[in-house]
Amino acid sequence: MPKYVLEILKTLAAGGHEAWCVGGCIRDSLLGRIPEDWDVTTDALPEETLALFPGRAVPTGLRHGTVTVRLPGSNPVEVTTYRVDGAYHDHRRPESVSFTRSLEEDLKRRDFTVNAMALGLDGTLRDPFGGQMDLRRGILRCVGDPDRRFQEDALRILRGLRFAAVLGFSIDPATADGLHRSRALLEEIASERIWAELQKLLCGKAAAAILREYPDVLGVFWPEVLPMVGFDQRNRHHCFDVWEHTLRALEAVEPEMVLRCTMLLHDIGKPSCFTMDAEGNGHFYGHPAVSRDLADGMLRRLKCGNADRETVLRLVEWHDRNIPRTDRGLRRALRALGEEDLRRLLAVKRADNLAQAVEFRGMQKEINLAEDMMNRLLEEKACVSLGQLAVNGRDLTELGYAGPAVGQILNRLLDAVVEGVAPNNREALLQYIQKMETSK
Ligand code: ATP
Ligand code: MG
Repeated sequence: MPKYVLEILKTLAAGGHEAWCVGGCIRDSLLGRIPEDWDVTTDALPEETLALFPGRAVPTGLRHGTVTVRLPGSNPVEVTTYRVDGAYHDHRRPESVSFTRSLEEDLKRRDFTVNAMALGLDGTLRDPFGGQMDLRRGILRCVGDPDRRFQEDALRILRGLRFAAVLGFSIDPATADGLHRSRALLEEIASERIWAELQKLLCGKAAAAILREYPDVLGVFWPEVLPMVGFDQRNRHHCFDVWEHTLRALEAVEPEMVLRCTMLLHDIGKPSCFTMDAEGNGHFYGHPAVSRDLADGMLRRLKCGNADRETVLRLVEWHDRNIPRTDRGLRRALRALGEEDLRRLLAVKRADNLAQAVEFRGMQKEINLAEDMMNRLLEEKACVSLGQLAVNGRDLTELGYAGPAVGQILNRLLDAVVEGVAPNNREALLQYIQKMETSK
């Protein structure tokens, strides 16, 4: 427990109150992970907490009994009064909350057993629902009756999948049944909250395993996913159906949200593009563009940020293009995507290829070659952007160009350099402008 958290517990205790660290921070410490933040639960009422930390406490969620305490130079800690949740009506938030004097009551309202443990000042662990045992066995289990808990707050459905994916836990059978049964309630949950959970889920080490078991849950807000499940590709490149291929590709990229999301969506257009030739081979002509359009709608629906959405869409659109094999091809790709996204594209291609039939996984070498070439071009500072051109806008203004013509010419010069038609030096480029003018 960090010093500042200890300090807060001590101050509350000195004020005559019970105070415990609770929830995710206990789960993570017991797992030997560094908790992101520390939460405290106490029998002190919010006003009492505020009074104990003058000038250091802000009422951030009074309706739920939460006061944020920030000691000098340390992270903020949420201190929440023991509470029980009132009735739930909309599968989202309790109608009312009331405070209680019992830690046990407070732990009972928490979602999963591994999140329902409290640690006291003297090192006492309160664990009324067997959270420690579940942690040890790697099991995610609801506190209480799963159906009821998911009915109360449907976000718990996705939190459950997220925790299982991130921790690599298996889901207790009764909880798993409840997850499937209650999934439609997710429709009531705000898309921003779904997206926040889904991003963490996708980056979990067991994301593929969880998605494999729960496509029906994903399908509540992303029904576009469902046709992939079990879709036979009838193509010798593929030994897996579209969904299994997708999951294996997802697993094969590092846990970065944009990459994971790209892999999840890269073939989403395949089922609707399927055609079969006379020999009975399946084809998916044009699927990258269809995948891109579907993904666009899906990401907008969940209110994914524009920058991330655009990156995912570009990678989806590019995922099936040939790997550049020449300096020129790589300069083109660097110009179009930039270094960061070209690296991502190579990661996408690598993963996509690793998820194909074994005898077609030979593309790895080609990708490595492209990567080496790209690294060399970057080291040589090859010109792949307007900013790197040996001629700039001012040069063109001095030559008498104005308005949009300046940008157009600069872009044509960059084309010439990227294509290897003109070298990137001032003299040559100025000459090239002349040549463009006379050939008009
Ligand atoms: P992380 O911070 O890693 O996302 P966490 O478990 O700390 O995980 P928080 O959202 O910070 O999650 O919530 C803190 C604690 O509050 C949880 O551990 C859990 O005990 C409780 N909790 C949070 N959300 C819910 C919920 N929707 N239903 C029931 N209990 C919840
Ligand atoms: Mg937390």
